[in-house]
Amino acid sequence: MQMVLDGLFLLSQDRGMNKRFAPTAPRTHIAPVVERIETVLVDLPTIRPHKLSVATMDGQTLMLVKVHCSDGIVGIGEGTTIGGLAYGGESPEGMKLATDTYFEPVIMGQDATRVQALMARIGKMVKENRFAKNAVETALLDAHGKRLGLPVSELLGGRRRDRLPVAWTLASGDTGKDIAEAERMLDLRRHRIFKLKIGAKRLKEDIAHVAAIKRALGERGAVRVDVNMAWSETEAAYGMAALADAGCELVEQPVNSPAALARLVRRFPVALMADEALTGPESAFEIAKIAGADVFAVKIEQSGGLYNAQRVAAIADAAGIGLYGGTMLEGAVGTIASAQVFSTFANLQWGTELFGPLLLTEEILARPLDYSDFELTVPAGPGLGIELDEERIAFFARNGLRKTISAG
Ligand SMILES: [Mg+2]
Repeated sequence: MQMVLDGLFLLSQDRGMNKRFAPTAPRTHIAPVVERIETVLVDLPTIRPHKLSVATMDGQTLMLVKVHCSDGIVGIGEGTTIGGLAYGGESPEGMKLATDTYFEPVIMGQDATRVQALMARIGKMVKENRFAKNAVETALLDAHGKRLGLPVSELLGGRRRDRLPVAWTLASGDTGKDIAEAERMLDLRRHRIFKLKIGAKRLKEDIAHVAAIKRALGERGAVRVDVNMAWSETEAAYGMAALADAGCELVEQPVNSPAALARLVRRFPVALMADEALTGPESAFEIAKIAGADVFAVKIEQSGGLYNAQRVAAIADAAGIGLYGGTMLEGAVGTIASAQVFSTFANLQWGTELFGPLLLTEEILARPLDYSDFELTVPAGPGLGIELDEERIAFFARNGLRKTISAG
């Protein structure tokens, strides 16, 4: 026993010695640290019900994150979901809880300039919660970009483009309304790529809906579909053949499993895109390994952050898989975080669907985003290059002035 105690005593002395004489990294300045994280839920109405096979959305909830740093810089980030828990394991409320309770203590007092080291610290303590991690990483990158006077794209290796093509999703649930909406978007020169949400109705009804829209638009608009995993493999085989005949150019996640995607790919003259099956670099590698898709829909939230989205893109490039910039129907903050990283991709063959802010009735930025000539401009200012309208945020904050959802 005494020997053990002696050993422990010696060990503690050693530790003390190491601490006293350990070389410290030379620092020319005192690094700013993370002081606190603020989170708020913002409930915003949508311009129309958004019907998906997994949910019908009448509004969107943004979980906004503000990272306050000791140099006075505040970075912003955002987490959203599609229909709460209908899409996956995270909800805006859950993201807020994870950030407040688990993330904040882990990075408080730490060097705010070392974004990747901070995210690794969080990753060590928190296994899952990709959407919440993305919101915090966005805020740290925004803060660091503001600090250095550089757009987030430049922190991520440098942008290759300033404008991104943006698809629009037709999801009113009514063929006539969808055609009228597409015509309006073409007239406004806002969108000429249209994604149709199908899978909730009978298969033949869905095919007729897609064919009618493509017939009405002709060569003026591209038509793609998103089934959100609603079909069986047999339905998908029938559906993809019929969709190819109807002039549809891309089918997104018709079935759930990567193995089924791999069995369907290249059997029909229509591109197959993986979306829900992509949950970060590891799953991207697994799908690439079995040649399970022609295209990857990369989303910063699904990937678990902006750096991970770049890793997913690198895997796609290496495997000869095309890239599409996806959305979790984010508001302006998440949309621009996505735009900043998508602007750095070597390939973006299928454009993006960064239309989230246009689905909301309310403007939450001091200066609105530039959607024009079928594209979105990636802001050029420091950080994300956007500024929140704080009065609007306070008004729509849950339990804020508007009191959208009662606490009771
Ligand atoms: Mg999708």
